[in-house]
Amino acid sequence: MRPAILDPLFSPISGLPGVGPKIAELLIKLLGRETAEDCRVIDLLFHAPFSLIDRRNQPGIARAPQGAIVTITARVDRHQVPQRGKSNVPYRVFLHDETGELTLVFFRGQAAWLEKQLPVDAEVTVSGKVDWFNGRASMVHPDYIVRADEAENLPLVEPIYPLTAGLSPKTLRKIIDAALPRFPELPEWIDPALAQKQGLPSIRDSFHMLHEPRDPADIDPQAPARRRLAYDEFLAGQLSLSLVRQRLRKVAGQPVQATGKVSAKILKSLPFSLTSSQNVAIAEVLKDMAGAERMLRLLQGDVGSGKTLVALMAMAAVIESGGQAVLMAPTEILARQHHATISKFAASAGLGIEVLTGRTKGREREEILERIASGAAQIVIGTHALFQDSVAYAKLMLAVVDEQHRFGVHQRLRLTAKGISPHMLVMTATPIPRTLVLAAFGDMDVSKLTEKPAGRKPIQTITVPMERTGEIVGRLQGALAEGKKAYWICPLVEESEQLDLMSAEERHATLVATLGPDIGLIHGRMSGPEKDAAMMAFKNGETRLLVATTVVEVGVDVPDATIMVIEHAERFGLAQLHQLRGRVGRGDEASTCILLYKGPLGETGHARLSIMRETEDGFRIAEEDLKLRGEGELLGTRQSGTPGFRIASLEAHADLLEIARKDAAYLIERDPELTGDRGTAIRTLLYLFRRDEAIRFLRAG
Ligand code: ADP
Ligand code: MG
Repeated sequence: MRPAILDPLFSPISGLPGVGPKIAELLIKLLGRETAEDCRVIDLLFHAPFSLIDRRNQPGIARAPQGAIVTITARVDRHQVPQRGKSNVPYRVFLHDETGELTLVFFRGQAAWLEKQLPVDAEVTVSGKVDWFNGRASMVHPDYIVRADEAENLPLVEPIYPLTAGLSPKTLRKIIDAALPRFPELPEWIDPALAQKQGLPSIRDSFHMLHEPRDPADIDPQAPARRRLAYDEFLAGQLSLSLVRQRLRKVAGQPVQATGKVSAKILKSLPFSLTSSQNVAIAEVLKDMAGAERMLRLLQGDVGSGKTLVALMAMAAVIESGGQAVLMAPTEILARQHHATISKFAASAGLGIEVLTGRTKGREREEILERIASGAAQIVIGTHALFQDSVAYAKLMLAVVDEQHRFGVHQRLRLTAKGISPHMLVMTATPIPRTLVLAAFGDMDVSKLTEKPAGRKPIQTITVPMERTGEIVGRLQGALAEGKKAYWICPLVEESEQLDLMSAEERHATLVATLGPDIGLIHGRMSGPEKDAAMMAFKNGETRLLVATTVVEVGVDVPDATIMVIEHAERFGLAQLHQLRGRVGRGDEASTCILLYKGPLGETGHARLSIMRETEDGFRIAEEDLKLRGEGELLGTRQSGTPGFRIASLEAHADLLEIARKDAAYLIERDPELTGDRGTAIRTLLYLFRRDEAIRFLRAG
């Protein structure tokens, strides 16, 4: 049970003054919650300002710098009301102080309101941006107008928050101001020595300082309040991971006794031999699974490094031991593709292999569910649908999760909450730096595939300005005539108002007009079967040019495709470019990647494209990416900051992560059930950061 002391923070935001249904709707969106019920006061308090407006500069009218935000106290001289019907002429109000004159400008100004706010002869304080034109100072729509004797009510330093359309800064500010006093005094969980050494304020003070910055330094990630919250967030994360892990360890492992019968058949039928990296990874996995504890292993391997086979070998071992294995992919296309390749590789072993996705319906679904329940299905490949309540396994011993960066700890927890405790192999194509692995997965064991399968030719990468697209199309025509296959990647599905990008559909149409009709198209708006059909046609060679949006990004495997054109390459992140490029260079023919960019390139854009030209090393690219844009994109989330974290950032707070990790280990060792005084405070922390799933594991014992 959540401690009652936290109740004020966990009441729905709709209970705050000024939050009607409409505002609640906007806040849910802003705070990324799913329902009004689940959008709590604490979520609002975690919404941190990213900047501030400093209104402390009060230079007097004559000395107000052009374009600067200033606060000015002056006397109202007169109003200039626009003539009737001239709605494009603004309403003007003239003021003066001892240094000079200022014109306030209001478009569509309401005379009655303005006369009340700015009565002639009154002394007022206004704050806003000053513009100088022809030696005259003006201020368009001041941010604040108050009577001079009420000037102390004016927020001289004002935090700026991320907003959403329809929600004004003032409205948000008022609601946050109403929420802040609800923050209770909480028992302290931080080690006093650490708090003192790091100069960390109490959690309650930290929230106040977060929302009431006095100075630009208070907005900095290194401000004491932000460091405190970051530490707490890391600590909560690390504790919850440790608790989950502790719990997983308690669940009796299902030791896998590999006999080699199934895997030998598969290996014999392969047209190639495994790389030594693959062999090492397989050995590590088999060793883990043979032990008494559950395996929790991350398999990192660059695109094309052959992770699927490692997974298949692990599954083979499980089948030899009489169990079942599932492989979960992030998308329908990938699930179906895995099904196709694994069926092909495993054909010689005569295994029961099924595919189950959200698209599997009706009778077919019923039959598959039956085979899963009876154990006839030895390998089940699919999407999230694999872990719906209706799916009951006969003897699930291994869950392989592909392209982990799309999943989180939460999915893992959901699985375990279902009472299933298979060994876990998590595969990711995104080389994740160690700090990120730590934050996202805790102390997971890691296997790395560092070599590429033999015979791979390097991919030649060139950058070409968009103006030369015609030339590229000409070269493509030649290559297609020679029987080559190519991808053409476009950034958007449809013409968007904001981004002036050529859509995949439009690009498809222009390419068809020049190169002929046998050109495929695949994008996110297509239905599942439509996507499959487009993919199959490309694989079979019915189409040899495939125009695609980034739906082909992860995992798609067409080994004889050797050309990759990426349009508006400057719009993509490094990790994404690397993933996309990894679609070619998978066979034994030399491949080319053409990055079409629209100039002029910014500094970051330039750096990204140069790195792409320089290296194919995914780990190096991941590091450079981290430097260039922060870790958010790396794990596949678009938010800024570290995915899954509200305040903490790995870039800014890596030192705190390390401390939190050690502290969490120490705490769990001392008080594994969190029942001592500090343990109780720690429970409060876990609830505060919504890590209470972990507490459920405590209770389940
Ligand atoms: P990823 O690690 O990106 O998931 P895949 O498992 O899809 O890579 O493998 C990429 C391609 O390499 C596939 O076509 C696969 O059949 C092939 N492959 C895997 N292992 C080897 C190997 N040892 N030698 C040659 N080709 C291999
Ligand atoms: Mg893959």
